Amino acid sequence: MNVRDCDFLVIGAGLAGLSAAMELAPHGRVILCAKRTLDESNSAYAQGGIAVPIAEDDTIESHLKDTLVAGAGLTNAAVALDIIAGGAARIGALEGWGVRFERKPHHPREADAEYDLGREGGHTVRRVLHSGDFTGAEVIRVMAERVRQQSSVQVLENHMAIDLITTGWLKVPGDDACIGAYFLDRKSGEIFAVRAPRTVLATGGAGKVYLYTSNPDIATGDGIAMAWRAGLEIRNMEFVQFHPTCLYHPEAKSFLISEAVRGEGARLLNGAGKPFMKRYDPRAELAPRDIVARAIDHEMKIRGDACVHLDITHKSEAFLRRRFPNIFAACKKFGFNMAKQPLPVVPAAHYFCGGVATDTRGRTQMTGLHAAGEVACTGLHGANRLASNSLLEALVCGHAAARDILDHPLKKNRKVPIPAWKIGDAVPSDEAVVVAHNWNEVRTVMWDYVGIVRTNRRLARALRRIANLRREIRAYHRDYLVTSDLLELRNIAAVAELVIRCAMLRRESRGLHYTLDYPYAADSMCRDTIIHDLPGGGAV
Ligand SMILES: Cc1cc2nc3c(=O)[nH]c(=O)nc-3n(C[C@H](O)[C@H](O)[C@H](O)COP(=O)(O)OP(=O)(O)OC[C@H]3O[C@@H](n4cnc5c(N)ncnc54)[C@H](O)[C@@H]3O)c2cc1C
Repeated sequence: MNVRDCDFLVIGAGLAGLSAAMELAPHGRVILCAKRTLDESNSAYAQGGIAVPIAEDDTIESHLKDTLVAGAGLTNAAVALDIIAGGAARIGALEGWGVRFERKPHHPREADAEYDLGREGGHTVRRVLHSGDFTGAEVIRVMAERVRQQSSVQVLENHMAIDLITTGWLKVPGDDACIGAYFLDRKSGEIFAVRAPRTVLATGGAGKVYLYTSNPDIATGDGIAMAWRAGLEIRNMEFVQFHPTCLYHPEAKSFLISEAVRGEGARLLNGAGKPFMKRYDPRAELAPRDIVARAIDHEMKIRGDACVHLDITHKSEAFLRRRFPNIFAACKKFGFNMAKQPLPVVPAAHYFCGGVATDTRGRTQMTGLHAAGEVACTGLHGANRLASNSLLEALVCGHAAARDILDHPLKKNRKVPIPAWKIGDAVPSDEAVVVAHNWNEVRTVMWDYVGIVRTNRRLARALRRIANLRREIRAYHRDYLVTSDLLELRNIAAVAELVIRCAMLRRESRGLHYTLDYPYAADSMCRDTIIHDLPGGGAV
């Protein structure tokens, strides 16, 4: 088996992975891997922008306060302060590389004009830096261009990490350390290993665990599942943010209508054409996402409607085309003119607050392994993420993980022999239908039983189903040669189990976790949920 060596392995090329790779590049050989192309990541799909307290009427303390309110008692204030305070310098670096954030028009020198900041739910002031409504695409385009210019960085697209390689698993005496990962080249089907003394896990979130999601196809929670299999602590997986407003259209694949549209005054209307948000929260449409998503879910359920509507027809077409060019064009493509008619919308799984336990420097419990971005749980988001804080976290923590690696070189760099990937008696599968069926089943079970509103019975039912599926997947994994679909199925099923188990541990409603059996927050439960065992005996 082919083993490639490098100094730094970065798994994932969204904002967190690219930030880490850029910082590591001058200091050694970097291998940067993405499961698909660099423009396919949650980062690249981000519309709203990056929250940073950069305006004259804003302060770090005010941003911190809003973050703590959203986090519903579980945000770690020291962590949040660290990340928020680190934002401005990273924005400066992005601008230095060529990212252009929107500034107010009519200033003689564009660079001196004030930022045109967006306002989103839960923020008490305008503080969201954006590039039109395709901020993520713009940031990733510039960073990907920069990273490709670094001669020390080898970019491997369409390469999927299968599992971390640890000295514990190889039974090498001493502390357990991560020394790289096995990869599947999705084009050739080759399996090989990358050996590296330092690995940064930056594989993003897991929206695909749910039937309806705003996330692109890469978001299958691979990093969380790999870390769990490697014995790392996983935290707060019950806190799944459902974005309240995804376009409801059979071909739209949950196209997201950014919160910034509500920030510009859009109103939500129920099936009777009546606004309803004021009945649920005095902040109405600008209440935090969990409240808006639950209100929509409730309105749809009591009325039996398939969707609600988002109305911004009070704004002119010229304004909407300029402020939301991407959303305007996409809606037009699906037959809706948002200046003339309310848009049909539904909630969809959007963001995972939980993940691999780390500090703000991306340190995990394992030597040689850092994690940053949506795959990690630093404590910034607590029980609920404040809008546009996740790009900030990916940007700041991806960079901080790289700095930590550079500032703390390992004392010993062991070049451990890596065994070939075991194929055993596995043969190519002639039953792709089984994988497709199980994919749908995991996602449907999660949507129906572990969605916006939960109960003990639904969670217990979901756990039984997912446990059966995982047994089946384990057997399938043993008998057939691996494909990316099978590997992703194994990972979404593992993440599903983590979400259910964390949800079962939380006997209260807090932030994004809402259960009819315990409808209120309980002081005794104001702590993180932690899973620290090996999944299903360590096999899947
Ligand atoms: C539609 C949408 C809009 C959003 N809007 C905003 C917003 O306006 N503001 C905000 O703050 N947040 C927003 N978010 C959330 C935010 O985009 C993400 O939380 C953030 O981008 C995560 O960055 P990341 O680098 O951790 O992961 P990602 O950007 O998702 O990158 C993950 C990378 O890991 C790779 N990868 C995954 N698995 C593997 C594997 N097994 N092997 C190799 N590579 C792998 C992927 O290919 C990808 O390159 C939005 C999310 C979505 C989906």
